[in-house]
Amino acid sequence: MKILVVGGAGYIGSFMTRVLQEQGYEPVVLDNLSTGHRASVDKVVTFINGNISDPNLLKDLFKTHAIEVVMHFSAFSLVGESIQAPLLYYRNNVANTLHLLSAMADAGVEKFIFSSTAAIFGNPVEVPITESHPKNPINPYGHSKNMIERILEDLSAASGLRYVSLRYFNAAGGHPAGTMGEDHRNETHLIPLILKSLLDTGKEKKSLTVFGTDYNTTDGTCVRDYIHILDLAQAHMLALKYLISGGVSDCFNLGNGKGFSVLEVIKAAENVTGRKVPVTYGERRSGDPAVLVAGSGKIIDAFNWKPEFDSLEEIIGTAWKWHSSFPEGYND
Ligand code: UDP
Repeated sequence: MKILVVGGAGYIGSFMTRVLQEQGYEPVVLDNLSTGHRASVDKVVTFINGNISDPNLLKDLFKTHAIEVVMHFSAFSLVGESIQAPLLYYRNNVANTLHLLSAMADAGVEKFIFSSTAAIFGNPVEVPITESHPKNPINPYGHSKNMIERILEDLSAASGLRYVSLRYFNAAGGHPAGTMGEDHRNETHLIPLILKSLLDTGKEKKSLTVFGTDYNTTDGTCVRDYIHILDLAQAHMLALKYLISGGVSDCFNLGNGKGFSVLEVIKAAENVTGRKVPVTYGERRSGDPAVLVAGSGKIIDAFNWKPEFDSLEEIIGTAWKWHSSFPEGYND
């Protein structure tokens, strides 16, 4: 069965593509390589270098390939950047997704899995954050994803489209074999930054800045819910099977359900690597809520999903294997 993986060369999309292959599906990757890596996708996978804003490309793609389900990972996802460049985010995350949904409708493709985010909830009024938490995004990134969720709801009510929206908390980790992992040209995420600060690549060693120490948390630093990338991919597989077997449109929060502060993450990385993280303490980063922890009870009940990597050390261990094996990331 052919599955279109839009953004299949990005961090999450590339793991998804690999898991689809391993589980006997036929992924077709569409990616413009603006942030993804060709080398993160197996050469045997059909790879189309292009944009979802190109209607002719999408029309041809759906004509050439009998796509059953579309998984959509291509989006910009940095809160700070979205505040600086809202148009970029609304164009890429909203307008381009509309192009994709239109082309799907024209081609009669009616199953869709959407990468959503905890950022649609804004500052939590209640933790853990369940699906009934009010949606109140506080930055353009969160708004852009929330807008698509709204559009999907309307589209699903008016047409044959059925979708699953998965709201990720903090995706992290690498493949246990050490061969795949996070490789952002402009790295902003906590775990890769910590691990990169520990690698002596001959360049000037960079310390890790802790963004804010005066939050209302046990140690004053922000608390996040880190979910292993393969557990996240597995949740998509279950969503895929759900839609294939006729499941109705639905939304799920997706995290481990456990929160760790920035200082706890640093400590765990020190335990895993046996090295001391060079730390400096800085100002709060704008747009960061103090605590984001998922209530994942709904997806656990609905799909019998269970995270396999449920210790932070394990998650960081897989990331360390990747970063220490490939300090320069993918070779492309
Ligand atoms: N963080 C930090 N220093 C960094 C990068 C991140 O203290 O150099 C903190 C950030 O403020 C947040 C947490 O680490 O509380 C996770 O941030 P990340 O960017 O990895 O993911 P986000 O929660 O923004 O999706």
